[in-house]
Amino acid sequence: MTREFTCIICPNGCEIQAETDQGSLISLTGHTCPKGEAYVKQELTDPRRNIATSVLVKGGELPLASVRLTSPIPKNQIFAAMEAIRKLSLTAPVNAGDVVLKGILGNDSDVIVTKSVSKI
Ligand code: SF4
Repeated sequence: MTREFTCIICPNGCEIQAETDQGSLISLTGHTCPKGEAYVKQELTDPRRNIATSVLVKGGELPLASVRLTSPIPKNQIFAAMEAIRKLSLTAPVNAGDVVLKGILGNDSDVIVTKSVSKI
């Protein structure tokens, strides 16, 4: 069976064709570096995604602070993770690098602030 992937590891976005047999990788074409092969293997066995979003900030010069995960989590947990992040509310000041939720959904991945928001 041939499966198509668009590698998201770098902006090149290589279109990769993977020949698989019962979920196992047989051969690959279209990748231009080893990271593409690693990406497809990950997609076949344990697809993961990162999240970049924003969280409400009380008393800040901006109403929102941008946040992201420190490492990707299983793709099937993305909606639950977004829901957990949506429930967060911070109080200014917040600083880039602050951990605002540790080990989201039991994963080895934290939610951290990526843009500081000063107090009014
Ligand atoms: S295969 Fe390599 S060059 Fe192509 S998108 Fe993936 S990381 Fe970038």
